[in-house]
Amino acid sequence: RDIEAMAGVGLSWPSKLTHRPNFTASSLSRSSSGCSSRCAVKMTATVDDKKTTFTLKKSKEAFNAAKELMPGGVNSPVRAFRSVGGQPILIDSVKGSHMWDIDGNEFIDYVGSWGPAIIGHADDEVLAALAETMKKGTSFGAPCLLENVLAEMVISAVPSIEMVRFVNSGTEACMGVLRLARAFTGCEKIIKFEGCYHGHADPYLVKAGSGVATLGLPDSPGVPKAATAPTLSSPYNDIADVELLFETNKGEIAAVILEPVVGNSGFITPKPDFLNALRRITQENGALLIFDEVMTGFRLSYGGAQEYFGITPDLTTLGKIIGGGLPVGAYGGRREIMEMVAPAGPMYQAGTLSGNPLAMTAGIHTLKRLKEPGQYDYLDKITSELVQGILNAGKKAGHAVCGGYISGMFGFFFTEGPVFNFEDAKKSDTAKFARFFRGMLEEGVYFAPSQFEAGFTSLAHTSEDIRRTIAAAEKVFKQL
Ligand code: PMP
Repeated sequence: RDIEAMAGVGLSWPSKLTHRPNFTASSLSRSSSGCSSRCAVKMTATVDDKKTTFTLKKSKEAFNAAKELMPGGVNSPVRAFRSVGGQPILIDSVKGSHMWDIDGNEFIDYVGSWGPAIIGHADDEVLAALAETMKKGTSFGAPCLLENVLAEMVISAVPSIEMVRFVNSGTEACMGVLRLARAFTGCEKIIKFEGCYHGHADPYLVKAGSGVATLGLPDSPGVPKAATAPTLSSPYNDIADVELLFETNKGEIAAVILEPVVGNSGFITPKPDFLNALRRITQENGALLIFDEVMTGFRLSYGGAQEYFGITPDLTTLGKIIGGGLPVGAYGGRREIMEMVAPAGPMYQAGTLSGNPLAMTAGIHTLKRLKEPGQYDYLDKITSELVQGILNAGKKAGHAVCGGYISGMFGFFFTEGPVFNFEDAKKSDTAKFARFFRGMLEEGVYFAPSQFEAGFTSLAHTSEDIRRTIAAAEKVFKQL
């Protein structure tokens, strides 16, 4: 058996390839059960029950092959482990809060596909609903009822959204919302914050945190100066700086866009009055306030950060969770603004696969589960235990660490703190974080492979997962 068998497709292996990975069938099968995601962990067996040693041999072979096929061996930069070093792992399967790599290693997963897996990976109900929908086809390129259902769910949940447009990724959502803000206000300039990431569209690749920072690239070549010239940037949590920008660019600013809780510089919360002040300043200046809730939407609470903090922006972007693990993004806001979007209005934006029935189905069933009573209390409880446990373990072993969480989103920095912005976050000992990350990986815990990314828990994470993670952290912190 080789990679064709692993992928379950009949593709022939490219003849130009020199590194042929050598997978065995036995390493790829894993029994699964029909229980709900919350109990999935206990019911699933590991890839190889007898496996005791940690090896990344097959991942290494496959990654070497991948490097000849795809730039850096990946389709999204942070996956390549460049900032933490060591061997990236290739995933074979996921279930609940766990994932299994192609060497048969099992991990407790705190990345959750970078956010979407909030009810647990490969949830049985979501999979069953997808199978039903799939019988009718995968894409219509025409309106379908499922779009109405998800749109109604999103509109009734998110305070600022009266109308919504579905797209296929967070990047697309942020591209669309920017064009809309400019179309509505007739202004071109925008204010973003250092360390906030709003996808990889040209105008946003200014101090964009996340992968860009992880790779140490200040900006990206290929972005025309004209695309970023109207992008003004400000340190996060610094209202005086935003006021100054408005003063020096009077009547020219279309919008202020931000992550209402930052996940792309690590986990950073807004100071108590920051969001309120932004709301006031934008209103006073005729500019729009945009919350990029691609990460925080349906994660901090069912209504996102805007419900959690009680601040209503003019426009909101969503992604990740609302696609339940399938590619989705969305932007929405006040009706009078949204009615500028084509074909209701003149602002053009379109998409071949937008609103496709599979993504809508996964989103609908994910949101349904999240709406059940007690879900965010559960996320809050286990994430609190996790973060407190890790910080205590770090401090006990004599390390400078700080961190925090809201509901199922968390982060910790290898610095004394406090961390209010990206400059503070950069004081972290990233070399130590890298050693911690690799140590935890060997202990079967998968955190985001960068100091500058938030972590995520899910409804499928159990107290036992948390206990095991803290025990692993205690061990690894002592060895750093
Ligand atoms: N905005 C934020 C806040 C994000 O975290 C991300 C992705 N991590 C994006 C936009 C871009 O989303 P996508 O990767 O789906 O294009």
